[in-house]
Amino acid sequence: MTRTAIIGGGIAGLTAAWELARSGHQVDLYEAGSRLGGAIAPVALSGVRVDAGAEAFATRTPAVVEFLRELGLEDQVISPNPLGAWLQLPDQASPMPATGVLGVPANPRAEDVIAILGAEHAARAAADFDSPMRWSAAQNPALGEVVADRMGPAVVERLVAPITSGVHSADPYELAISSAHPELYRTMLAEGSLARAVASLRRAAPAGSAVQSLHGGMNTLISALESQLRQLGANIHLNTEVQDLGTLEADAVIVATEAPQVRRLISGGSQPAGLSASRSPGEDSGVALVTLLLHAPEMDVWPRGTGMLVAPTVRHIRAKAMTHISAKWEWVAQALEHQLGPSHHLLRLSFGRVTDTAGSLGFRSSDSDLLGAAITDLPALTSIAVSHDQLVDHTVVRWQAGLPGGSPQQRSDAQHIRELLRARHSAEGPRIAVTGAWFSGTGLAQIIPDARRTAQQILAP
Ligand SMILES: Cc1cc2nc3c(=O)[nH]c(=O)nc-3n(C[C@H](O)[C@H](O)[C@H](O)COP(=O)(O)OP(=O)(O)OC[C@H]3O[C@@H](n4cnc5c(N)ncnc54)[C@H](O)[C@@H]3O)c2cc1C
Repeated sequence: MTRTAIIGGGIAGLTAAWELARSGHQVDLYEAGSRLGGAIAPVALSGVRVDAGAEAFATRTPAVVEFLRELGLEDQVISPNPLGAWLQLPDQASPMPATGVLGVPANPRAEDVIAILGAEHAARAAADFDSPMRWSAAQNPALGEVVADRMGPAVVERLVAPITSGVHSADPYELAISSAHPELYRTMLAEGSLARAVASLRRAAPAGSAVQSLHGGMNTLISALESQLRQLGANIHLNTEVQDLGTLEADAVIVATEAPQVRRLISGGSQPAGLSASRSPGEDSGVALVTLLLHAPEMDVWPRGTGMLVAPTVRHIRAKAMTHISAKWEWVAQALEHQLGPSHHLLRLSFGRVTDTAGSLGFRSSDSDLLGAAITDLPALTSIAVSHDQLVDHTVVRWQAGLPGGSPQQRSDAQHIRELLRARHSAEGPRIAVTGAWFSGTGLAQIIPDARRTAQQILAP
């Protein structure tokens, strides 16, 4: 039995802890805050509990579903309303094209793509099928660079940026393609075309919806992990911020925290050699989420499907995304109806892009400014006029961690830290490894398998 210490009780730390504890190792999990889960947490509005942070996981690989099955949560897995989301552009609002990956179309000549790009830009995008490939495996370019080169900048602006800014909190020209979707670049090189790569990934993905969640929200995964860890005998230390790895009594340490803490912890306070001194884009930014509980029979028709992603070029709406939570997840609609009666709706608006300038509405804005903007944006986002008296309840939640930006620089820093730690493995002292969004890439589909691998590898001979 090996004694392992895990720093950080977000999904990465919890997953690594579970992997080790179930293999019979002694686990001490240290979490600086008063609760586990990090960027996965619940929030309650008028007695209805929904996710305050992450609310779903990508199904492009079976990794998360397999993990949930091993935890005994398979029966709780749910799919969203297949209506899908919409896209708000400066000049139009349209349903999101049906067959894409990160907004990149599999068929640039499809009608729903032409409706958004226009015939000329769609023809430019289709040039991807025949143009020579100038990218190579040795490069780690930004998603926006690759898409602009293969399909033209209009595809980045109108289809990709709304998704990367709304979902990843990243500018597509600052988001490494390897971070956004690890297989996309490799498949593009193999296929000789970005569109063919998207089509091939779509074909290879498990049937059904691109994302799934758990009945009761992703936050129920945290409670399940916590109770299984306790049953397995793991020691969970809440309100315990680890400042110095040297104070831990452990044979192996896994650090699963955000970038600034990782840097400080593994280097004893100084900047590790070889890392860029500048902070990665996104490290200092955050998002603010305003969740509105409305009594609005006009919304029973789900006017914008499951929600809306707003292109950064849109000036008349300040939110970057809106999720119609009760349209997206049936259990939420049922809980609202049960608790409050019919025609109650939950909508979540997010504010704050990495590209925002000082003075933009976002992470640092006051609750009242954010609520005011959410109410003002709502008619444009939903096509329905909603008045202040229809507001039953609201919450404002801010997140600064959990979205590391994923720039090429951040990816190479992450890789460098991992190599540095691997090189130290032969030296005296406990083995140290790192995991979490900053190393694996944002999103549970990348974080969970990475945390499991990290836990398995740290004890390997
Ligand atoms: C608003 C929002 C919505 C999102 N939506 C989705 C989604 O729908 N689907 C998806 O896949 N992903 C989503 N994400 C991304 C995903 O939630 C995060 O990438 C993921 O939860 C990060 O997990 P983590 O364990 O790496 O880090 P975190 O969740 O940030 O956890 C790190 C933990 O370490 C603790 N810690 C830090 N320093 C120390 C220390 N020195 N000692 C002890 N503890 C420490 C922190 O308190 C924290 O609890 C979303 C993120 C946000 C913010």
